[in-house]
Amino acid sequence: MSAEVINGKELAQDLRDKMKVEVEALQAKGVHPHLTVVLVGDDPASKSYVSGKEKASSEIGISSEIIHLPKETSEEELLDVIDDLNNNSNVHGILVQLPLPHHIKEQSVIEAIDPKKDVDGFHPVNIGRMMTNQETFLPCTPYGILTMLKSCHIDLEGKHAVIIGRSNIVGKPVGQMLLNENATVTYCHSRTKYLKTYTTKADILIVAIGQPHVIKEDDIKEGAIVIDVGINRLEDGTLTGDVDFSRVKQKASYITPVPHGVGPMTITMLLQNTIQTAKGLTASEG
Ligand code: NDP
Repeated sequence: MSAEVINGKELAQDLRDKMKVEVEALQAKGVHPHLTVVLVGDDPASKSYVSGKEKASSEIGISSEIIHLPKETSEEELLDVIDDLNNNSNVHGILVQLPLPHHIKEQSVIEAIDPKKDVDGFHPVNIGRMMTNQETFLPCTPYGILTMLKSCHIDLEGKHAVIIGRSNIVGKPVGQMLLNENATVTYCHSRTKYLKTYTTKADILIVAIGQPHVIKEDDIKEGAIVIDVGINRLEDGTLTGDVDFSRVKQKASYITPVPHGVGPMTITMLLQNTIQTAKGLTASEG
């Protein structure tokens, strides 16, 4: 058996083509979706993520602006910038690129963003709405994962989903979203004993650890659906996931590759959330 590879790059492109048409229709009605990204400091990875978001936005007609602040910016100054953006009706989506310099409390910044403009879906109001299965802005990576599963017409109801990783941006929300879809969810993390006991029982295995090739073919059940969120750069410069792709692929029914898997879907869902804010809707409406 060899798994069907879920090509996130192709799916992302299909979705972005449709979004482009949607943005044109909004513009014809005088609504010009606009995303503002705030970057504090000069972290090279953050700079590259931010320019990727700007490029993807412009490709589908969403205007975007990067507010680049020096690394010495105080928390108060940053909160003032966010306040201005909250009050600017031309700005539909606000994203503050994380991580922030250590002297700024990330949670204070996340909570300062107007939940209606929170295209990252990190505000506690939006997380609470997700927890209670209400319409909301969903965090982009988990939203992308769910979109990938649905694109393959995988019936999630009653499936046992095992999530490895419990971060606020990936592990926790993806588990909650699968629970909302009536899956049975198990969370694992670095303190989980006998990890394999859980992974081998998973119908759907979501791996978001951040260490190369932790999951081998012996760790999965025959026919499992394997979603690899990890992005790891090896010494030779190549990118790889948390899953030993070539071997696990022989045993799984579906698998996502790295690169060209979950990664391109994350930015795509950011664009989706931005379009929804411009429409005055939450992510799952419309
Ligand atoms: P975090 O470092 O915040 O979380 C990693 C999680 O993995 C933690 O919950 C940790 O447990 C758990 N963990 C670490 N080691 C093990 C282990 N040996 N066995 C079981 N669990 C373990 O990472 P993120 O969630 O932010 O990201 C995870 C990966 O996904 C990274 O590679 C990141 O680059 C990638 N990523 C990819 C995105 C994309 O768009 N494709 C978007 C976001 C992230 P504990 O809580 O106990 O420490």
